This record gives sequence, structure tokens and C-alpha cells, in this order.
Amino acid sequence: MKKSDLDKFKKLLIKKREVMIEEMSGLNIRFDETLKERTGDLSSHSYHMADQGTDAMEREMAAMISSKSGRLVYHIDEALRRIENGEYGKCFNCGKQISITRLKAVPHARFCIDCKSEEEKKNEKFKK
Ligand SMILES: [Zn+2]
Repeated sequence: MKKSDLDKFKKLLIKKREVMIEEMSGLNIRFDETLKERTGDLSSHSYHMADQGTDAMEREMAAMISSKSGRLVYHIDEALRRIENGEYGKCFNCGKQISITRLKAVPHARFCIDCKSEEEKKNEKFKK
């Protein structure tokens, strides 16, 4: 893949990531505010957090990973890493170059269109 194409996809991925993070932090802010309202002032808030920090963090992490945007951010990060180490655009399954058209639609794609549809067929079977 050309360097100029890589740069284009990198920008695309970073932008997409920002949008996703914004979406998710919107949720976090709401969560934070309700907590503050409940616990009163800031000092008791942090004390409270220190007490139950692990629990809350674990819940938050789990929510993030299980959420659609959280998973997407993970895949975007992985794609950005592949750009850095020069593996971007290669199919995880067959090693062929994923078409630019497909990458434009799904910049974090890991499989070429053939392997992707194969995988979807398999998943369909698994569900049944
Ligand atoms: Zn493939």
C-alpha cells in the first residue's frame, strides 16, 4: 500500500476513534455527575471512589468492552498499530491485501471480503 494511502487511513481511523471516545465519555460524565450528586462534596466523592474504586472501575471497563463503541475503539487501536508496523490492510486469514474500497468503508477491517463472508457463514451456522 502507498504511504499516502496509509496516511489517509490513519487519519480516518484517528477521527473515527475520537468520535467514539467522545460518545463514550459522554456516558461517563453522566455517570460521574449522578455519583457526585449522591455523595455530596468532592472530598467524600474521592474517598468513596477510593473505597469502591476497583469495583466501579471493573464495572466501567466491562461496560466499555461490552459496548459496541468500546469494541470498535479496540479494533481501531489495533488497526492503527498495524499501520505503524506495516501490516495494515493484510487479511488476517489468507494474508491477501484487503481491497481499498473495503478499507474505505471499514478502515479497521481485519479480513478481506471473501474471508469475512466465510466467517459470517460460519457464525450463522454457530447461532443455529
Ligand atoms: Zn482473506
